[in-house]
Amino acid sequence: MNSALTRRTKLTRTWIVILMIWGIALCGTAVASAAPLAPAIPPGAEASSHFDVAVATDAWLSQFSGPARKNSDSYFEGGYWLILWDFLATVAVMLLLLETKASAWMRDFAERIARLKLFQYWIYFIELVLAATVLTFPLTVFEGWVREHTYGLSNQTFGAWLSEQLIALGLTLVLGGLAFSALIAIVKRLPRTWPAWGAVIALLFVTIGAVIAPVFIAPLFNTYKPLENRVIKNQILSMARANGIPAHDVYEVDASRQSKRVSANVSGLFGTGRITLNDNLLARCSPQAIMAVMGHEMGHYVMHHIYNRLMFAAIQIVVMFSLLRWGLDKLVGRFGGRWRLLSPTDLAAAPVAILILTILGLLLTPIQNSFTRTQEYEADIFGLNASRQPDGEAEADLLLGEYRKLDPGPLEEMIFFDHPSGRTRITAAMRWKAENLCLFDPALPCESVSVAAKGPSSR
Ligand SMILES: [Zn+2]
Repeated sequence: MNSALTRRTKLTRTWIVILMIWGIALCGTAVASAAPLAPAIPPGAEASSHFDVAVATDAWLSQFSGPARKNSDSYFEGGYWLILWDFLATVAVMLLLLETKASAWMRDFAERIARLKLFQYWIYFIELVLAATVLTFPLTVFEGWVREHTYGLSNQTFGAWLSEQLIALGLTLVLGGLAFSALIAIVKRLPRTWPAWGAVIALLFVTIGAVIAPVFIAPLFNTYKPLENRVIKNQILSMARANGIPAHDVYEVDASRQSKRVSANVSGLFGTGRITLNDNLLARCSPQAIMAVMGHEMGHYVMHHIYNRLMFAAIQIVVMFSLLRWGLDKLVGRFGGRWRLLSPTDLAAAPVAILILTILGLLLTPIQNSFTRTQEYEADIFGLNASRQPDGEAEADLLLGEYRKLDPGPLEEMIFFDHPSGRTRITAAMRWKAENLCLFDPALPCESVSVAAKGPSSR
C-alpha cells in the first residue's frame, strides 16, 4: 500500500484507504527525462561466469547513494514518527471529546434534530468526523502537503491538495456514515453478539468498497484511460495471456497530477478487477522494468491477494471487535458517568471505541505490515518468473528507494515495511538471475556454478 505509514490513523482518510484496498507502489519518483531503453546494469551485476548474488545486489544498491539516499532514508524514517504522532493526535482528540462531554452533547443534538434512529447515528457521525478533521487539520497539512513538498515528492498546489481532501471528506461522510450507522444499529439491536454480526457488516462494506473503488471512487481523483503505448500494451497482454489472466486492457492513470512517484496497482474485485500503471512509471522506467512491475501486479491477481487480504481483514475485524466490546464494558463502566455516557452501546461512546481501535491498530501494525510484505514478496517472485527481467526489477526497486529506505535492519523491516526493502527485492532478483544466466548470455550455463557451490545466498 502506498505509504500506509502516514495514513493509518488519520480519521478522515481511513475509509478511503480501506475502500480502495490500494496496492502496491512499485517504482520511484520524479518525472524526469525520457525512459531508458534498457536497465543500466552496473559493473558487478552483469551476467558472467563469476556472477555473485551478494556482489550484484551491492552493485545495484550502490547506484543510489550520497545525499539522495540520505534524503530518502530521512523521509522514510520520519514516517515511523508519524505513526506515533498520528496515534497521539487521535488519542488526544478522542479524550478531549469525552472529557469536555462534547460527545454526549453531539449525541443529544443528533437525537433532538432527527426522529429516525438511523439519521441520529448519521448526524452524530458527521459531527464526530468534522470535529476530528478540524482538530487534526494542522497535522494533516504537515503530513500530506508540507512534508511531501519538503522532500520534493509532491506536484500539487495547496489548493489542489485541499480540494482532494474535501472530496475525501465528502466520501467519508457519505460512505463512512452509511457503514457507521449500520454498525451502530447492529450494536444496539444485538448488544451481546454484535462483534460477530458487526464484523459481517464491516466486511460487507469493505467488499462493496473494493468493488466500486476503481469504477466510482478512483476517477474522482484521477483520470483513467486504456494504455496508449501499443508496444508496451501488447507485451503486457501477452504476459497476461501466458499466465491465464483474462485481461483485454491495461489502464494508465495520470498520477503525475499529485505526485512524482512511480507506481502500479491491482484494484477492484469480481468484474471490476483491473491492472493500472501510472504515467510516472511510463515516463521513467525502461520497458524491462515496466514488464517486471507488471509481472509483479499479475502475481497479485493470479495469487488472489485481494481475496486473501479480505479474509485477513475479516479475522482482524472479529478479533478487534471482540476486544473492543470488552474494552468498552471496562472503560464505560469506569468513566461513563464522568463522560456522560449512558451505556457501553451508547452512541456517544464512539470516541471510546475509536480510542480502543487506535491502540489495537498500533499494536497490530507489525502484523499487518508483515502480512502485506509477505504478499508483496510473493508477487515479486511471481513477477520475476513471469517477466524474466531481474535487471528491470532491480531498476524499479532502486527508483522506489527514492521514497522507501533501501537497506534497513531486519527488525526495522519487520515492523515498519509494508513492502520488502530494496535490498530484499534486489537480492531476490539477483538470485533469480544467478540461476538463469543463459538467458542473458547464451555462452553461460543456465545455473550459477559459483552460487550452487556456496549454497543458498542470504540477503
Ligand atoms: Zn505489490
